Order: sequence, then C-alpha cells, then structure tokens
Amino acid sequence: MEKNTENWLPDFCSRPKILVVDDQPANIRVLHELFRHDCDIFMATNGEQAITVCQSQLPDLVLLDVVMEGVDGHEVCRRLKSDLATQGIPIIFITAQHHESEEVFGLELGAVDFISKPINPIIVKARVRTHLVLKLQNDQLRSMALIDGLTGVANRRKFDEKIIADWRQCLRDKNSLSLIFIDVDYFKRYNDKYGHQAGDECLKSIALTLAKCVRRPYDLVARYGGEEFACILPSTGISGAIEIAERMKQCVRELNIEHSESDLGQVVTISLGVATVIPSVDFKLQDLLGSADKQLYKSKQAGRNCVSF
Ligand SMILES: [Mg+2]
Repeated sequence: MEKNTENWLPDFCSRPKILVVDDQPANIRVLHELFRHDCDIFMATNGEQAITVCQSQLPDLVLLDVVMEGVDGHEVCRRLKSDLATQGIPIIFITAQHHESEEVFGLELGAVDFISKPINPIIVKARVRTHLVLKLQNDQLRSMALIDGLTGVANRRKFDEKIIADWRQCLRDKNSLSLIFIDVDYFKRYNDKYGHQAGDECLKSIALTLAKCVRRPYDLVARYGGEEFACILPSTGISGAIEIAERMKQCVRELNIEHSESDLGQVVTISLGVATVIPSVDFKLQDLLGSADKQLYKSKQAGRNCVSF
C-alpha cells in the first residue's frame, strides 16, 4: 500500500499513541503494520491488560476488539468511560459481527466509531485519522484554554483546578501542601512611568523567571491576576517553600529591570507570602489561600521585596 507518511496527520500533531486490543495476535499485527510509521503502538490481548495500559499510558485512541475471553470489549469501554482519567480517550470498536444492533450498542456505550473485520486498510486508516485529529485538536484547545496568553504560564483557571486536585491528593496522602503568593512591587508606578507595553514585557520576564525557580513537574506557577502570581508546591513543607520563595525573590531582583520609581534600589522586585498546611477535614482550602494572602500583605507592610510565612 502507498504510504503518505508526511501528511497523514496535520503538522501541529505530536506523535499519537494508539492502543490496539485484540485476543488474536494476528489481528494486532495487521493494525500495528498500518500505523507503526506514524504512531506509537501499544498492545493488549485481553480486557484487563487494556484497562491497565489506558491508565498508565493515556493513549490518544483505542482500537478495541469486542469478543474476548473474560473482560470483553464492551466492558472495557464501560470501565474506561466511567473513569474520569480515561473517559476522554476515543474508542473505536473493531469486530467481525455485522449486525446493526451491535453497532448501535457500541456507540451507546460511548465509542466514537465502529469498524468491521476483516480489516480494510483504507477504511481503518481514514477513520483512525479522523478521530486522532479530533482528539489532538481537542487536547490542544484544552491546554490553550489553561495558559495565560501574555506570560505563557498557567492561568487562573488552571490554578483553580490544580489547587483543588492537589488539596485532595495531599489530604489522602497526609502530605503538606504549600502555596506562595507573589506580587510585583510598585507595578502601577512602573506602568505609569514606562508604559503598558514595557509593563507586559516586565510581567513576561518575571513569569519566566518564577517558572524556572520550580523544578518538579507537579509544581505550578500561575498568573493569578494582574501583576499577581501564585505557586503551588504539593508535598512540600514550609522550609522547602521558603527556600523556593527566597530564590524567586533573588532571581527577579537579579533580572535588573530598571524601575526608577521604586524605592527599592531602582529595580523591579517582588513581595511574597508563603503558607503551608497538611490538609485535613478541619481545614478548608479557603484558609490556605487566605493565609498565603495575609502573608503577602505582611510582606508589603514590611517594606516589600521580602518573604513572609
Ligand atoms: Mg476477538
């Protein structure tokens, strides 16, 4: 068959992950051969395995055999759709059964498409492409909706989602959760003096610098509003959080962004408030936010360009 590897998926798409599930290795081989040039292929020969791979790999698409011993395709689909973590993965049923009622049943379970065996390579490729593009476009839109357009760090919406998830996680693990609120000192004066365009550039540099101060993939720096940023540090105690806050303060000062209207050495500086809690049913997430905010206020009162906790 002729391959059109270069244009099979639009340029923006990263290399997709496909999970092929079938109890007949010969069927897996056919599909593997069709897609291995363009996609990373994972394989499973039974339902349990399929669910495990979905949870660990989060594939972009599942090609799912219906008739299998034990947990069959319908059950796999039901379980993936009832789990928040996997319900967004599109599923295409591939089966030798040609009854229309079978197709209806599969679609009602939440599958996006239905392909019959024996496999016609052109049909399979076309349908897989359609659903992969939809999935990847959807992922891209979703991630764009969670990024701050000016600075490129996470936005407020992402912050709100993540702090709730991290709170729950730390509550389960009895682990501490730290939060840093960050505010740019005399930013209004900066805008008045240098103009809003320079103000935007200043916020971009600061955001980039703050993001560089955290290293673990589950730490998050977000733009909280205007010239305010926030940093979520799961599984981090107060001393670790203070260390990061001090590093942020220092790194922003070392950017040496001129600010002739600031009383603090005529460069741009930030004030920070740190709060740490081990989530329990006695505390509310709101208390953690309130506490970090109070510490930030204390830093402002104490003369700015400092960390309070
Ligand atoms: Mg089968």
